[in-house]
Amino acid sequence: AELELIRAQRFESLALLAGGLSHDLRNLLQPLLLAGDTLQDYADDPRLARLGALVRDCGRRGLEMVSSMLSFARGARRAEQVRLGALLDALKLLMQGSVPRTVQMDVDVFDPEISIEGNHTELQQCLLNLCLNALQAMPDGGQLRVETAQINLPEDFFVEGEQPAAGRYLRLSVIDSGVGMSQDVLQRLFEPFFTTKETGTGLGLLSCKRIIASHGGVMRVRSKPGEGTQFHLYLPLAEGDDSIAETMRTETGLLGE
Ligand code: ADP
Repeated sequence: AELELIRAQRFESLALLAGGLSHDLRNLLQPLLLAGDTLQDYADDPRLARLGALVRDCGRRGLEMVSSMLSFARGARRAEQVRLGALLDALKLLMQGSVPRTVQMDVDVFDPEISIEGNHTELQQCLLNLCLNALQAMPDGGQLRVETAQINLPEDFFVEGEQPAAGRYLRLSVIDSGVGMSQDVLQRLFEPFFTTKETGTGLGLLSCKRIIASHGGVMRVRSKPGEGTQFHLYLPLAEGDDSIAETMRTETGLLGE
């Protein structure tokens, strides 16, 4: 499982790079293609026209490469039912070797049977990223808590740039009592390659954000220097498989008889 995760992590970083590069390249290639085309059509000198055709063909080939890079970046993701219990059991297992004696890690699962539609490996990788960041924020030890809850989000919870979708969400929280973040760091958190660590990649949180967004979810951060950091992930719950509502329905049914 660890190996698969490392592979997924590598893939995610690569996909992130490929995705970013593709957009930039496309913006460069499109005018080039147009310029080549125009040169070929309007040049009086046949040599210039041939040059135009060459530029256009190269531009076109480049664009084709870009679109295959983009489809790689989007990846062939597998959607499955991800059980909360399985997700957090796997997280505990993966963290086992990394948590130092000075850190107390608690994982609280309110309902292991609840599940969301998505990709187990991606979500696991996202939680692992957050937990490893939390550990790195507590060099002198502290508390790492992973909490879960079910919550209704109103439309005004969502901010600009997000797709507001009021409804029921699963909230996964990773909470540490570490060094916290300054306002400046908080603002730049999701920038690609932004890191305050000597050996950091600055891709961890961005990749988390991407994963959560691709699950139709959102992320929130709260942090105070010297006090710690909370990351909250909100993932939409399908209306159909609500185990709590299911029990309630059954109970109401019994009461009615
Ligand atoms: P990396 O971990 O490689 O630096 P990330 O994107 O995961 O990249 O994190 C970016 C930066 O955000 C980190 O370098 C760190 O400054 C800050 N950060 C992330 N998580 C925490 C945390 N739990 N506590 C304090 N700072 C954090």
